[in-house]
Amino acid sequence: MDREALLAWYSPRRRAYPWRARPTPYRVLVSEIMLQQTQAARVEPAFRAFIRRFPSAAALARARRSEVLRAWAGLGYNRRAVALSRAARAIVREHRGRVPRDPAVLQGLPGVGPYTAAAVASIAFGVPAAAVDANVARVVTRVHLGAEAHEVPPAVRRDLARGWLDREDPGSWNQALMDLGREVCRPRPRCPSCPLAGACRFEASGREPAASGRRQPRFEGSLRQVRGRVIAALRERSSASLGALSRDLGQAPDRIHRAIAGLAADGLVEAGPAALAGRPGGRVRLSEEERGPRPPSEDAVA
Ligand code: SF4
Repeated sequence: MDREALLAWYSPRRRAYPWRARPTPYRVLVSEIMLQQTQAARVEPAFRAFIRRFPSAAALARARRSEVLRAWAGLGYNRRAVALSRAARAIVREHRGRVPRDPAVLQGLPGVGPYTAAAVASIAFGVPAAAVDANVARVVTRVHLGAEAHEVPPAVRRDLARGWLDREDPGSWNQALMDLGREVCRPRPRCPSCPLAGACRFEASGREPAASGRRQPRFEGSLRQVRGRVIAALRERSSASLGALSRDLGQAPDRIHRAIAGLAADGLVEAGPAALAGRPGGRVRLSEEERGPRPPSEDAVA
């Protein structure tokens, strides 16, 4: 259904981002994990800097966790940095430094779910796997069923996406649908500029789009915001006391304590017993976890 129209629309965009210009498996994996929760415009400069610093899975696997967390600045959701660091070590340890191509094996890596696995497998290796995130699900269900994604069971959405997949160039197809969902078929769709308008059941039905459903939990003033500010502060210094963080960040000591307890449990920071007990003099620093394994050979790294 209108494959050519969608691919023609995508064609001038296909080199828009640095990870598309040279889609090696490692670069695609890094970009897809960054893009999970951060907009492409913010990912772009962070991706360039990250790849300069860690040009291969082996280089990333060797880095201390604190180095990776520092290189993650500007992206937010810092747990992804820990997951990516662990994924690189698993790639070196279990896959001879090569990013696996099988989506089922990719899903065994930390931080890689079904969507990311399908995106990496299709974009980097040409494996015919449909990558279905919220944006793609919205396009697929609107075009084929004239329905909103939340009205359609996940298994049906997946089957539709698989059936529609361009098996000759699944990577381009997945990226075209991702871009269309992000830029045109948004929750409030821009049908007049859509290449699929002539074939879309949703457009033909004249339906009003559903009010965007779940709202993101409020970030301003949230504990998640405090966690992010603690990590940002620790990027700038080797360690800090709870009291200093409370003062510098203008946060009540108990909120700093709760943020640090969560960050320590997630492996992002190391906190001594006094810090975990919430004492103002207790010290905390970015996780320095031991360096990862050496790869069998640098040449083996994708
Ligand atoms: S025509 Fe409208 S509803 Fe259909 S895919 Fe395009 S933007 Fe979405």
